[in-house]
Amino acid sequence: MKKESLKEKVKSTGLKNTPLREEVLKIFTEARKALSSKDIIEKLGKKYDRVSIFRTISTFAENGVIHAIPTSSDYVVYSLCRDNCATAEHLDHHYHFFCRRCGNIFCLNDFEFYNIKLPRGYKAESVNILFEGVCKDCSQN
Ligand SMILES: [Zn+2]
Ligand SMILES: [Zn+2]
Ligand SMILES: [Zn+2]
Repeated sequence: MKKESLKEKVKSTGLKNTPLREEVLKIFTEARKALSSKDIIEKLGKKYDRVSIFRTISTFAENGVIHAIPTSSDYVVYSLCRDNCATAEHLDHHYHFFCRRCGNIFCLNDFEFYNIKLPRGYKAESVNILFEGVCKDCSQN
């Protein structure tokens, strides 16, 4: 993604463009895996204070820029949303994959989401399915 479209993405959410928001968005855009707030702090912690970084991440998650992925441990990782996510409404219903070897979590964006039929009376509002195993890169080595 070019710098201009990064700005556009932030602007399309109605958020003000700040240097920190731009940098956080750039990190998510370039990452091939999901990132935790710790990962972001490791990259930007010398330039910005932790509270602002945490706030930026939660603002992005609330505004459809990134989505949270719960892990089996007690932390959450985040990944960039596809363009169709709107403010406060995440439309990217897809599976996630946790690699036991490298410990990374990936979005399986192009993997068809099956229409799972829930028992009568149950209405799902979000889905979290996490596969565990060995990722593409790790299984090649
Ligand atoms: Zn989303
Ligand atoms: Zn792996
Ligand atoms: Zn995802």
